[in-house]
Amino acid sequence: MNNDQTPPVSNFIRNIVMRDRETGKHDKIITRFPPEPNGHLHIGHAKSICLNFGIAAEFGGATNLRFDDTNPLKESDDFAQAILNDVRWLGFEWTELRHASDYFQQLYDFAVHLIRNGKAYVDSQDAEAMRSRRGTLKDPGTDSPYRDRSVEENLDLFERMKNGGFADGEHVLRARIDMASANMNLRDPAIYRIRRVTHHRTGDAWNIYPMYDWAHGISDAIEGITHSLCTLEFEDHRPLYDWFLENIPATCHPQQIEFARGNLDFTVMSKRKLRQLVEEGHVSDWDDPRMPTIAGLRRRGYTARSIRTFWKEAGVSKAESIIPMGVLENAIRNDMNENAPRVMAVLDPIKVVLTNYPEGESEWLQAPSHPQNPEMGHRSVPLSREIWIERADFMEDPPRKFFRLRPGGEVRLRNAFIIKCNDIIKDSDGSVTEIHCEFDPDSRSGLPGAARKVKGTIHWVSAEHGINAEVRLYDRLFNVANPLADKEKDYLEFLNPDSLSVVSSAIVEPTVAQGQPGDFFQFERVGYFTIDQDSKDAARPILNRTVSLRDSWAKINR
Ligand code: ATP
Ligand code: MG
Repeated sequence: MNNDQTPPVSNFIRNIVMRDRETGKHDKIITRFPPEPNGHLHIGHAKSICLNFGIAAEFGGATNLRFDDTNPLKESDDFAQAILNDVRWLGFEWTELRHASDYFQQLYDFAVHLIRNGKAYVDSQDAEAMRSRRGTLKDPGTDSPYRDRSVEENLDLFERMKNGGFADGEHVLRARIDMASANMNLRDPAIYRIRRVTHHRTGDAWNIYPMYDWAHGISDAIEGITHSLCTLEFEDHRPLYDWFLENIPATCHPQQIEFARGNLDFTVMSKRKLRQLVEEGHVSDWDDPRMPTIAGLRRRGYTARSIRTFWKEAGVSKAESIIPMGVLENAIRNDMNENAPRVMAVLDPIKVVLTNYPEGESEWLQAPSHPQNPEMGHRSVPLSREIWIERADFMEDPPRKFFRLRPGGEVRLRNAFIIKCNDIIKDSDGSVTEIHCEFDPDSRSGLPGAARKVKGTIHWVSAEHGINAEVRLYDRLFNVANPLADKEKDYLEFLNPDSLSVVSSAIVEPTVAQGQPGDFFQFERVGYFTIDQDSKDAARPILNRTVSLRDSWAKINR
């Protein structure tokens, strides 16, 4: 289970659960997370996961993971496996793994029960006729001409639907509630439809499949769920949820409680849209580091802990809101600031020759892996006569407040010593190809001159030892905060064409090449980076920028 240190944050759902424990309404709290295996989980699902698992764990209860697999056309076992993997990775372990399809027989039997009690009927209108009789928010619906079929006829038709005697769409089974209800969901909702397709678990056993509302509440009841937590769009379905449970011989009646969906700006979150991004090749796959999927965030370098912390701090309420992407970025930045080992890497290298450094020699400096956390130890950083620095850290003709390297100027090399620029070499176009510097041997750490202050400190990598790396710089997937806001336009028009740029000539210190996919680092003064799963060769590591440094300058020059 997850190991988050801070105390639980209160919210209205937690209050309900706490009260139900105190009053003894429930001895044991049981929640569930009910994904449909029709895509990968995204950051929004993580909110529901943290809530359901978190609350049950806090009160010593249980949480089932239940696949809501009632829609065979869109679902697959691969998606189911990916979901299990993501939930585990997030740090949660389910009490029982269930499937709505485990209950197909019970769901069917309960439907027969409704029919026997005159509370469900087989409707043979086509979809269009059914729609036209449904009414509107203002006008009541009209009863179906099939609404008063006899129980015997309904039982016979329903059984033949199940046995494959009819084509898709020929009939549906509807609950017989109230075509004039102010709540459209109660106007004789469909509870079974014919779908003569293979199901990824039950194969060809069924020719009818239960509708979401029918399957969901009954599955909750079968599992003894105490609190069925769902998002606000199901608020209007609650009367139906309750009606179903009141009209079948259910052994318990879970309480449905709705909370606001988690939303983030600069992305989209519905699985249908995420699937489109993958299928049309706008991203490489579900785990593309630009995707808001758990798999994408993981590959980007997000830790499970940072995602849990993010949702904990965002809280749970009934108020709809859109959280700025920067808040999520801050969660991983804070985590990495605390936990990422520091290394040096140069993304856009230019060569510096230390003219007074003995030719052919090199040395290994000891540098702290984390300046604020001595427990993280030290690493060895090689140094030789030629080093790479960041092209942007040198200016031939800089403005007044430029405190990095300039002709005749001094700068400190991080973890090493002060250098002074004596000469620059240019190519025929006049661009600088090499910078010649002298280092001050007395300014090495440990020597009296170590305290000598110069205005700037820059990072560097030994040219002889540095490893050539590919670095993938990610930006937001969309270039507007809400790609769905403009209903006239296709959200794909707002894809950010610069969401990925690949730097192929970065140079990293050797420590990085020893890492494994998933290992992360702070490239000092540059950002936080994680080794990508594509990285197979220690001689050519591939890293993803997880998040930039907020304040690269202030920190290091202090
Ligand atoms: P999507 O629109 O992405 O397809 P969904 O609700 O159809 O989402 P499900 O697999 O049915 O996806 O969702 C499983 C659970 O996750 C449900 O209980 C659902 O309410 C919850 N959930 C989905 N999206 C969010 C979100 N953005 N914030 C909080 N909970 C969510
Ligand atoms: Mg769904």
